[in-house]
Amino acid sequence: MATNQSLFERAQITTPGGVNSPVRAFRSVGGTPRFISKAKGAYIWDVEGKQYIDCIGSWGPMILGHAHPEVVKAVQVAAENSFSYGAPTEAEILMAEKITQLVPSIEQVRLVSSGTEATMSALRLARGFTGRDLIVKFEGCYHGHADSLLVKAGSGLLTFAEESEDIDLSKNAPSSGGVPQDVIKHTLVLPFNDLAALEHAFAQFGPEIAALIVEPIAGNMNLVQMTPEFIAAMRSLTTQHGALLIYDEVMTGFRVALGGAQSLHGITPDLTCLGKVMGGGMPMAAFGGRRDIMQKLAPIGNVYQAGTLSGNPLAVAAGLTTLNLVSREGFYTELSNNISKLLKGLEQLAKEAGHDFSTDHVGGMFGIYFAKEKPQSLEDITKSDMEKFKRFFHAMLDEGVYLAPSAYEAGFLSIEHNDSVIEKMLVAAKVAFSKI
Ligand SMILES: *Cc1c(COP(=O)(O)O)cnc(C)c1O
Repeated sequence: MATNQSLFERAQITTPGGVNSPVRAFRSVGGTPRFISKAKGAYIWDVEGKQYIDCIGSWGPMILGHAHPEVVKAVQVAAENSFSYGAPTEAEILMAEKITQLVPSIEQVRLVSSGTEATMSALRLARGFTGRDLIVKFEGCYHGHADSLLVKAGSGLLTFAEESEDIDLSKNAPSSGGVPQDVIKHTLVLPFNDLAALEHAFAQFGPEIAALIVEPIAGNMNLVQMTPEFIAAMRSLTTQHGALLIYDEVMTGFRVALGGAQSLHGITPDLTCLGKVMGGGMPMAAFGGRRDIMQKLAPIGNVYQAGTLSGNPLAVAAGLTTLNLVSREGFYTELSNNISKLLKGLEQLAKEAGHDFSTDHVGGMFGIYFAKEKPQSLEDITKSDMEKFKRFFHAMLDEGVYLAPSAYEAGFLSIEHNDSVIEKMLVAAKVAFSKI
């Protein structure tokens, strides 16, 4: 019989690192990645037949639980009519109508196949629309792996020792091999949640900034929320300087609330990127926003963007069915209440076992931190007890709970994680907290 270990060794012969996306390799927690054979509802099984409660949900999409019968049925029906046409369909109109109805800042939308494609295209559109090159992003926010976004600020830039000191973009460094300096000199990286740095950046570069892109509730450095003052400043500074505000809601869209983080913030972004939940587990994402901006896209405008599989019929079937099901009254309240129960339980157990531990959540996404206080930035996350997290991760895995294999990732539950599942998670956590 195949084991996780034997498959991991075999995978490494033909696939770099044995995985098709780096976090799956368990490198930040150590040990052997689980090779998955199937999943249903709140549960996932590895090839050795061990069952786990899944707290990743494919990194967000599986908000209804795995293999929801209505979603499976919709994909099966679509598949009977072939997988792809390379020509428009009525279902794509329904999908666009649904998105624009649920997220009112999106007047028009374009479907793509991954979150990376959505952010990359939104940035090109923002540059085309404004005629400017400079992009502002925040440290710890992930927006996919387009070249211009794989960048870290040069040392010193993030501290702003002197208010009057100019930011030097030539000190930017790529955060990946293969990214040219020429590309990243157009990206300004600022510390998350740092109002003074944001004001400083707009004062120095205002007329050159095409767009500010942000994860409105950061979920790629664990879960970190912004202060209301910071959110308001992002909107007013971009408006004031003629730059576009792009909410990258690939993770938060239809995850934290039906209308996304923007509905919770009371903010109308100029452009929004969506992915994950909207595809229901199929490769689909989208970007959209103000009509006057979206009208700049090909075929009517001069900003080029295209995709052989964009609006794929199977992906649209899965996505549309998912969006219809999450639209029911009370869905997000129920999801959020269940997560609250879990997190309160975890905090209590951690306290009893004597660990510094805190949690946070918004709708269907949550963060757990081995630290006394909720973090405000990437720096705070880095200062939490990473070694303890690793031990906790493995202790939970042994007890049949599959957490995100990194302290820099948020967790995700589905509507199938009901009281009895949460009860099981807390039983596991009691054992895990005592072991670590
Ligand atoms: C996952 C994610 C992306 C990238 O999406 P992919 O589909 O993995 O390319 C972009 N932005 C955010 C906020 C994400 O969470």
